[in-house]
Amino acid sequence: MINIIPIPAFEDNYIWLLQHERNVVVIDPGDAEPVMAHLRKNNWALKAILITHHHHDHIGGVQALLAHYPVKVYAPGYQHYPFDHIPVRENDEIHLNDISETFKVLWLPGHTLDHIAYVNEQYLFSGDVLFGAGCGRLFEGTPTQMLHSLNKIKQLPLSTKVYCTHEYTLKNIQFALTLEPDNIRLQAREAKAIALRKQHLPTIPSTLEEEMETNPFLRCLEPDIKQNSGVKLSTEIDVFTAIRQLRNHY
Ligand SMILES: [Zn+2]
Repeated sequence: MINIIPIPAFEDNYIWLLQHERNVVVIDPGDAEPVMAHLRKNNWALKAILITHHHHDHIGGVQALLAHYPVKVYAPGYQHYPFDHIPVRENDEIHLNDISETFKVLWLPGHTLDHIAYVNEQYLFSGDVLFGAGCGRLFEGTPTQMLHSLNKIKQLPLSTKVYCTHEYTLKNIQFALTLEPDNIRLQAREAKAIALRKQHLPTIPSTLEEEMETNPFLRCLEPDIKQNSGVKLSTEIDVFTAIRQLRNHY
């Protein structure tokens, strides 16, 4: 069993820390200092670093961590990285024996072209692809690539816990309500998110089931979303492209 601990960083990032006994694996350490503070305080040992994509707020702390802890770094094999790492690609398996977990790599281009996620039977670390009630912006990929990536995530078990790297959930829910004002699950999720954020608690993780019921980017074929996306043609990709655009300006 692992503990999964969010370390808030920057304005709204989470660095995920996976802890088993004294051993820790960290995902997307954009900043080293809060991670090192956590390790020192608990007398834990860093054993590995996992990277989902090349954006600075996900890798900015890697070199400083490596200076203190010479551990393995797993990073997407679709991109050059300025530190020693093990390049990983679609379907690779990563055996993290120190924390007794194995993850499979999913290649999910869209937000960036190199973007990967780490998944097993219980957890999905989705980086900036799938957010709570939303999805990442398309900085490098096409809408078709992103929709394909999201549809890959939809094949995972509904009970999968989704850990993304930004606290965007409440704003995403408010946007989603403009598309599906009558979605009762979405209304309930808004109330829950408001209550959590009032206490400065994370809205993450969600489950894939919760995302399937409330995340408009996984629900492009729902009649209300089609209707409110303003798209006359109503294929999944047309609706996805339109609502991603709408969210950019929300
Ligand atoms: Zn990013």
